[in-house]
Amino acid sequence: MKKEIQYIKGIGPKRYEAFLKEGLKTASDFLYYFPRDYIDRTNVTTLKSLAVKLRQETESISQSITEDFSFKLEFSFVGRITEKKVHTFGRNRKFLKLTVNDLQNGYAEVIFWSYADYYAKLYDIKELISVSGKPELNRYGTISFSHPEIQRLDSEDEKQFETGKILPIYKLSENLKKYKISSKTIRDIVQTILPSELKNVEDTLPDYVLKEFGYPNAQEAIKNLHFPSQKEDIDKARQRMKFEEIFFFELLLAIRKRKIKYIEKGLALSPKSKSARKLYNSLPFRLTKDQIKVINEISQDMQSGKPMNRLLQGDVGSGKTIVALLSMLTTIDNGFQTAFMAPTELLAEQHYHTILNYLKDFDISVVQLVGGQKKRVRQEILEKIASGEANIIVGTHALFESEILYKDLGLIIIDEQHRFGVAQRAELISLGKKSHDDEELAPHILVMSATPIPRTLSMTLYGDLDVSIIREMPKNRKPVKTKVVFESQLPSVYSFIRVEVRKGRQAFVVYPLVEKSEKLDLKSATEHYEKLKNDVFPDLRCGLLHGQMLWYEKDETMKAFLEKQYDLLVATTVIEVGIDIPNATIMLIENSERFGLSQLHQLRGRVGRGSEQAYCILATKENFKFHFNKKLQDEQDTVSAIIRLKSMEETSDGFKISEIDLKLRGPGDFLGTKQAGLPSFKFLNLASDGDLISKARKFAFQIIADDPHLRKVENKAMRENFIKQYKEGNHYFDIA
Ligand code: ADP
Ligand code: MG
Repeated sequence: MKKEIQYIKGIGPKRYEAFLKEGLKTASDFLYYFPRDYIDRTNVTTLKSLAVKLRQETESISQSITEDFSFKLEFSFVGRITEKKVHTFGRNRKFLKLTVNDLQNGYAEVIFWSYADYYAKLYDIKELISVSGKPELNRYGTISFSHPEIQRLDSEDEKQFETGKILPIYKLSENLKKYKISSKTIRDIVQTILPSELKNVEDTLPDYVLKEFGYPNAQEAIKNLHFPSQKEDIDKARQRMKFEEIFFFELLLAIRKRKIKYIEKGLALSPKSKSARKLYNSLPFRLTKDQIKVINEISQDMQSGKPMNRLLQGDVGSGKTIVALLSMLTTIDNGFQTAFMAPTELLAEQHYHTILNYLKDFDISVVQLVGGQKKRVRQEILEKIASGEANIIVGTHALFESEILYKDLGLIIIDEQHRFGVAQRAELISLGKKSHDDEELAPHILVMSATPIPRTLSMTLYGDLDVSIIREMPKNRKPVKTKVVFESQLPSVYSFIRVEVRKGRQAFVVYPLVEKSEKLDLKSATEHYEKLKNDVFPDLRCGLLHGQMLWYEKDETMKAFLEKQYDLLVATTVIEVGIDIPNATIMLIENSERFGLSQLHQLRGRVGRGSEQAYCILATKENFKFHFNKKLQDEQDTVSAIIRLKSMEETSDGFKISEIDLKLRGPGDFLGTKQAGLPSFKFLNLASDGDLISKARKFAFQIIADDPHLRKVENKAMRENFIKQYKEGNHYFDIA
């Protein structure tokens, strides 16, 4: 029976309700409600040394962005209020400034921009308080916290603190604060329940795992997170918690991967392929080392008799198509069909023509399956697919409709789909199996993506896939010249565009919005399309592309641009991934401070695909000029915008960019929506815990290799916890 907390001393009905809202119902829920931070008299980071560190950081940010930087972390300290003053500014607006001295000769200011009078009444001079928040440097180099979390320390706390105890600080929601629940309230509750609750905690990690890594057991870790006696206890406990979070997820991935790799049977294809050899010999360029490495990895997979399940990551223009094509030819020479799926019709069409072009002198039948084809044409194609006459089938997701019957589908390529999930892959596997006489034989699958993903994410998100990476760009590629410009420089940018267009090139001009907005002071594509067309470039041909157009309108516009019917394409971010417009050499992005870093990098990838020098121009607000030449010490939004723009100027390496982006935004935002399938981690930080993740991953995979069903006695607790966490019922989760 779980003990409900309303019976605990000091929790009345109102507080009980408040805790319920936070999901804190039973005593054991409190056990796992860990402190957000700690304050420690022996803390080596005093306010003085923090100020020094912050100053160094702001300086190093203005030097090189792409080198490692850490982003404002939380900081807590205990201090006494020594000054309190309500200031006025603007038209009768007020803010409160408290000066707080820590007990080691450092001080910080605490600012309340709103409810100044209220907070002024709340706190008194000489009071001892704890302050937790994100420190910043103000323009005088003083540490400043704005609206931090403040807790008053009573005499008992003070005594504890004075005697060198570490005090835990718990997170308090507005809801909890409303009921006057303080960090101390929670601390007292935890103290009450700890002795009896801790006894019920069973370790999820077996002894041999704890020993291997030197981690404390679960009971010890939980106790030390709430009431550490020294700093090292906290670190060790945290490491263990992080490990546990990622370890069980990696176990899941190991099980899934084993299922595909060792249980499914795949086609064993001979690597000898006359067609692949012939294409290879006819290429007008030499493959890069990375391309060759990846081709070998794919070839190994395809020979193995186990189905390939591989993700190929490579920046835009790194040459993934030719890798795919060579693998397709090998498959065809072994007597199997291949399907190539693109995300849009336009891209499918471009791939279709690229492939036709490469295979002009080959006796290989390539067909295209897209929407809008005449019934008779479509029927003919379907028959060719069913009879096996068609060797390569190019199309969109329509390729996988149930009415399409394949004849011996050996390899499926998915282009530009970095979010291709487990369930979708399972469907493809069964589709491929159905096409074979031996319905046990799964097809090979290669998913390609031009969205570089940091290593920590590919180890988790795509952990059940094998990952190949093309990092090296073809030699003949000139890097896109990237420059940040300010509003007042736009006229000269426009002149530059005109010069390039006169030379026969084309340009993209990208805006953050489709239409003018009342609320946002941002430029819109439709409005500026008119301006550019009528006022700035009356002599040039301008097209317009945005997300509110229908898909075929977008396709038509893109096609017209590709066919050079426009000199200039005014657009929002909808410009397609992967489309090849070699003649476009300029990418001008206005209000570029509003775009995400990965987004900017993707947009830049739309140019520079031909032999001419290409340019990416990032236009931004005039007043950013000031920040660019100064230490960065403004509010977070501006700082990260500037880090983004500077990173773009500094590097064109997609992987580097993705790592910076992950740090700036955190994994949730980085992946767009909350990524299905990735658990939420309380302790683990996907951006910075790379080493721990790979340690846990290696260990989890070893355990599954040794004990695939977790049946060994020593793995019993692990098995039980695993089932508790992942009981989805999907057969990929099944370890029985
Ligand atoms: P992506 O990886 O973005 O799909 P593509 O496969 O479309 O890139 O390749 C981009 C361009 O680079 C194509 O025109 C292709 O012919 C060319 N290419 C591919 N590999 C090489 C290479 N090793 N050397 C030179 N050019 C290459
Ligand atoms: Mg491509």
